[in-house]
Amino acid sequence: MSVAGIPIRIHFTFVLFLVWIATIGSGFLWTGLVLAVFACVLLHELGHALVARRFGIETRDITLYPIGGVAMLDGRPRPRQELWISLAGPMVNVVLAIILALVLLIRDGALPSFSLSLNGSSFLGALFVANVSLAIFNMIPAFPMDGGRVLRGSLALAMPETRATQIAGTIGQGLAILIGLWGILHQSPILVLVAFFVFLGAGQEVSATITRSFLAGHALHDAMQKRYRTINSGATLEAAARMLIEGSQHDFPVVAGDEGEVIGVLTRNAIAHGLATEGPTGYVAAHMRREYKTAHPNAPLEAAIEMFSQEDPSPIIVLDDGQMVGMVTQDNLSEFIMLEHARQQGTRSYGYTG
Ligand SMILES: [Zn+2]
Repeated sequence: MSVAGIPIRIHFTFVLFLVWIATIGSGFLWTGLVLAVFACVLLHELGHALVARRFGIETRDITLYPIGGVAMLDGRPRPRQELWISLAGPMVNVVLAIILALVLLIRDGALPSFSLSLNGSSFLGALFVANVSLAIFNMIPAFPMDGGRVLRGSLALAMPETRATQIAGTIGQGLAILIGLWGILHQSPILVLVAFFVFLGAGQEVSATITRSFLAGHALHDAMQKRYRTINSGATLEAAARMLIEGSQHDFPVVAGDEGEVIGVLTRNAIAHGLATEGPTGYVAAHMRREYKTAHPNAPLEAAIEMFSQEDPSPIIVLDDGQMVGMVTQDNLSEFIMLEHARQQGTRSYGYTG
């Protein structure tokens, strides 16, 4: 399923959740309400995605989980953009709540009370309460809630992004502790769980931003390997396996013929997979990736970190005028971050002693 060209995924736990609701709840109406609330959550995520699109950032997908939705953006917005993208979601719920309130006012002459009793006539009332709650809950100023991003985006208008993230992260973790304590006092396991995720989310967001700050202002050529071995596409997997053992390199650029043009990348996993399926006499050409990551040596290093993922840790081939000049692996990046961290600690202590 996709909306506005954005794939919508439903996490399997969400289906389990619906089955569970149907068995414990009062049947049809209750399940219908849960589905309606999730339609509102979907609209909320689409709010984020469509505003992001206005800034030229596409959304990889939207996934619905039992505790809410997640829109995965295909890039990192600037602080001012982040402010608007984050506000867009809760705003969708505010608009939905206003529409429902008007419908209810016209129909009943009054707004529903904020109690979640459910019968046929209070279906819209319950949906109204759900949207008000979604707007308020998401505006809690704590990562990974929208309110946390709104806070960071606003702070970042007046200070560096790293500092803004640290402040927003600290506020978020403080709030998480309060939410957790409240949950324990009121014996609400769901609140304790939410607090736990907020606390973790805030920590991750802060460390990711600090990591990125070490890369800021550097280009790919600052972190790339210049001494590396390539392998010929006509070589056997046995030869590749030997190269893997003899050196510390995990992935090999594959070259065709003598002119040395890179036509693919042979990863460590591909060598192992090839040996298992075809044996040592298999050719490198049959097991290399023909589509591999490339970048220019002057490209910003911050962009490189986004190119690695759990599913695809293969290296970036650095090309200048179509000619390979280096290679950046995940290990390069972590070493670069480690050294940059050490350098900045060094300059900081010089500052104090000098
Ligand atoms: Zn949101």
